[in-house]
Amino acid sequence: MTRILVCVKFIQGELNPFDAAALECALELSDSAARAGREPVRVWVLGMGPALWEEPMKRLTRLGKPETFRAVLLSDSAFAGSDTLATSRILAAAVRKIEAENGTMDWIFCGRQTIDGDTAQVGPELAQMLNRPFLTNVMACPDIFAAEQGTPADGSFRVSTRLGEERIKTPALLTMERIRDLRFPSLRSRPGAVDFLNRSALGLSPSECGLAGSGTRVLETFRAERGRRDCRWITSEELIPLLDELRNRPKMGMEIPQSPKRLPCLHIVGPETEAMARSIADEVIFVKKGSPEEIVQEIRDADAVLWNADFWGRKTAPQVAAMLQAGLCADCTALETDGETLFLYRPARSGDILAKIECLTRPQMATVRTVGECADFIIAGGRGISGYWEHLRIFAEKIGAEPAASRALVDSDHVPYEFQIGLTGRRVSPKIYLAVGISGAVQHTCAMDTSDFIIAVNPDRDARVFEYADYGIHGDFAELMKLVNI
Ligand SMILES: Cc1cc2nc3c(=O)[nH]c(=O)nc-3n(C[C@H](O)[C@H](O)[C@H](O)COP(=O)(O)OP(=O)(O)OC[C@H]3O[C@@H](n4cnc5c(N)ncnc54)[C@H](O)[C@@H]3O)c2cc1C
Repeated sequence: MTRILVCVKFIQGELNPFDAAALECALELSDSAARAGREPVRVWVLGMGPALWEEPMKRLTRLGKPETFRAVLLSDSAFAGSDTLATSRILAAAVRKIEAENGTMDWIFCGRQTIDGDTAQVGPELAQMLNRPFLTNVMACPDIFAAEQGTPADGSFRVSTRLGEERIKTPALLTMERIRDLRFPSLRSRPGAVDFLNRSALGLSPSECGLAGSGTRVLETFRAERGRRDCRWITSEELIPLLDELRNRPKMGMEIPQSPKRLPCLHIVGPETEAMARSIADEVIFVKKGSPEEIVQEIRDADAVLWNADFWGRKTAPQVAAMLQAGLCADCTALETDGETLFLYRPARSGDILAKIECLTRPQMATVRTVGECADFIIAGGRGISGYWEHLRIFAEKIGAEPAASRALVDSDHVPYEFQIGLTGRRVSPKIYLAVGISGAVQHTCAMDTSDFIIAVNPDRDARVFEYADYGIHGDFAELMKLVNI
């Protein structure tokens, strides 16, 4: 019998879309086992949240039969305020308990990330705590019942991820991309029961959960001000001559301000974060990108460690954090210190809020967004041009720019993730950044606000993006397309 456990989170009453994809994959495998006349697949959905999640969890039970589909809600006031480390610890304790009663889960499916936190840390941390192999960014539901997968010679399964074809042996954990929508329950289905587990049922002490068990703490939140500019209004007809003029200007260098107070020493994994590290520490120690075990040996006694928030860093840093039981702050955009503690800044919620965070454990660890190689001229589209991604690409080609997108456009137009600019996409600093149909949420501006020149086009004169623009066009994409005869 195949057992699959799916971790789920609700955000404002809705199932996190990445978790919805993970659950749909589990249900599809259950369907294909039934079609092939195999033993039924048993599915568990596991959520950690307040008791009012009982209702949405109950709705999920309508997707399966009570004999093969169970919903378990981890709920306790002691769990409130858990960061990713404490959350993974609680989930790991729950998985162990469920497995003790039902047998080992062949597969644990998680969404790649949640859309509110976007850290992508819980999957890798959970896998590490359960000592299970894992793959992230899974792009297709693994066909574990396909003929060639049925008796794999080495016992491993083929899984398609963002890196291509990878193989993994069960029991294993996969983090799913947003590759499926969750089906609707049949009209005749009835909701089943939701099992509740609290802290004591999981055998955890209060110090392992919630704020007390977290490795990071938010110190304060405040309005993000960095990168604001004075916007000069121009007409759409002035755009092309302006671009010609700006293109001919020499590229300005991007300066990282030096911190007045400094850490004596900072470890960095890989070379990418060197400039940021040198802006805040007197000595920078390079750690080779090796296996998590090798890295743990190198940094066990370090005071603070920075990782580049690229694909590899976002997968490996949480694994190492779980091995060291250390807090890890994801996707930091700025660093500060009082000479001892490393303070980390990260956009929080949507809008324009920044959070100042500290690590309570040692080593203090963070993944940071570094500015990558990019074209001199980028045109990025947002939700305001939804349905026009292909037009934006043509427009970009005609004006000699590289196309890019906000997360909202990536989601709405199924634009490949590689094009996403922002906190959880790429961070760029081109000579010209032309933002069309983008409102200017801090998660977007934090990744482009060091561009030499920013031009924003938006029909909403009050859009926040204009506060970050040198030039503003009060208009829409249709006007721009006319300029180049699209
Ligand atoms: C943890 C976390 C991480 C995130 N990471 C990222 C990230 O990496 N990148 C990112 O971009 N966002 C990210 N976000 C999302 C971010 O908060 C915003 O929701 C997102 O940037 C909004 O995208 P948008 O500006 O395209 O859409 P909206 O905010 O919906 O803005 C659309 C704009 O289009 C304008 N418009 C409407 N019609 C037209 C038209 N015809 N022509 C031109 N303009 C028009 C509107 O006036 C509006 O200003 C993240 C959020 C969280 C919580």
